[in-house]
Amino acid sequence: MLILSIESTCDETCAALVEDGRIVHVNVTYSQIAEHNKTGGVVPEVAARRHAEAITQVLEEALKQYGEKIGVLKNVKGNENDGNEEIGKESMKKIMEGIDAIAVAQGPGLLGCLMVGNNAASALSLMWEKPLIPVHHIEGHLYASWLREKDDERAGGDGDGDGDDGGDGDDGGDGDNREVEFPMLILTVSGGHNQLFLMEGHGKYKLLGETLDDAAGEAFDKVARMLGLGYPGGPEIQRIAANGNEANGFKPGDPFKYELPRAMMKNEHADEFNFSFSGLKTAMRTLILNLKVKGSNEFDQALPDVAASFEYTVCDTLLKKLRKAAELHGPKEIHIAGGVSANLRLRKMLEHTFASKGPKSDKGKPREIEIHYPALKFCTDNAAMLGSVAYFRYIADPEKYSTWENSVPNVGLKFH
Ligand code: ADP
Ligand code: MG
Repeated sequence: MLILSIESTCDETCAALVEDGRIVHVNVTYSQIAEHNKTGGVVPEVAARRHAEAITQVLEEALKQYGEKIGVLKNVKGNENDGNEEIGKESMKKIMEGIDAIAVAQGPGLLGCLMVGNNAASALSLMWEKPLIPVHHIEGHLYASWLREKDDERAGGDGDGDGDDGGDGDDGGDGDNREVEFPMLILTVSGGHNQLFLMEGHGKYKLLGETLDDAAGEAFDKVARMLGLGYPGGPEIQRIAANGNEANGFKPGDPFKYELPRAMMKNEHADEFNFSFSGLKTAMRTLILNLKVKGSNEFDQALPDVAASFEYTVCDTLLKKLRKAAELHGPKEIHIAGGVSANLRLRKMLEHTFASKGPKSDKGKPREIEIHYPALKFCTDNAAMLGSVAYFRYIADPEKYSTWENSVPNVGLKFH
């Protein structure tokens, strides 16, 4: 089953073609990052306008790439007139006929942005008379580590979860052919979301905990801004923590240099799975102000240590909670998803947390837990992940999506 999926919840306009929920034929992402870098964050109205400008081109590009792949269009990538061929009526008809359904991220997201993707999806569904499958954006992130690309034997990365993948800025996921095993624990860590789910089957989730204030990615973005680094903050903090800067002789930052607060870890909070990063943000603010008082040279020298300590503290907080949840629920697999799951320190620490020690079963035997994370291109917002969810939704209840009249975009979608 081939699904054309559309994502426009925040600052990426995306379209993808995914087969049977796992095989990514085409994945087109138009990122607005450069635009939002100017303002240090996403301005909703600006984002909505960029979506409106980009959606047709992104869809056209996705359909064109797919047309090339199946031989309907002659332009194979790399040809001198690559991208110049118009999709004629006949070619479009052939491409369209191969598509079984349209999926779209229905929410949550910025309303103006959502409307662009949802309107485009509804229009195609109506015009082509294909079912429209609305998908929850976060549910998409949960499925991201199951994806693999059509042309790759695997999605890339060695899939051993040792966190050494992706150093080349390319991949790091493990979308192999194996069947996933339930129950699994999934930690979503993105700019807007920070949740811990126990997933017991397709579409069956228990929300174990979530952030009470900022999501981990948001904390990365805000702290990067305080440090005078660019947007998005996560990769910037990772870069300076790993490589240092001129002022410190390009030495990697020391993650243990500054002891920073970890919220919701003690007393009555020790056994729950909610997160809070606003206290850490305030502590960072104080630390940065204190360092700045000492002079800009002092501050520049300290910057890699500050970045590394912050990065370590966020990762440590997330993983302590994840480990506790694993001890309690004994999952067969652990997945991390969302933009922050691209973080290399998080991946390394995740591997370390579960590799040697492994949570113990009731009888004290180590449990086998598989660790998975998405290929880097599927960590941040993308449409392929939506195509995966939509497939499993559809095969579970095809009747529900049998006509387009049933599907009315409704951004107030509730999580299960
Ligand atoms: P959202 O759409 O909710 O903002 P995304 O899944 O698009 O989330 O992820 C974007 C977030 O991921 C940003 O907050 C960004 O700083 C963070 N991020 C991206 N790469 C990294 C990284 N290497 N380390 C830490 N955070 C990262
Ligand atoms: Mg995003």
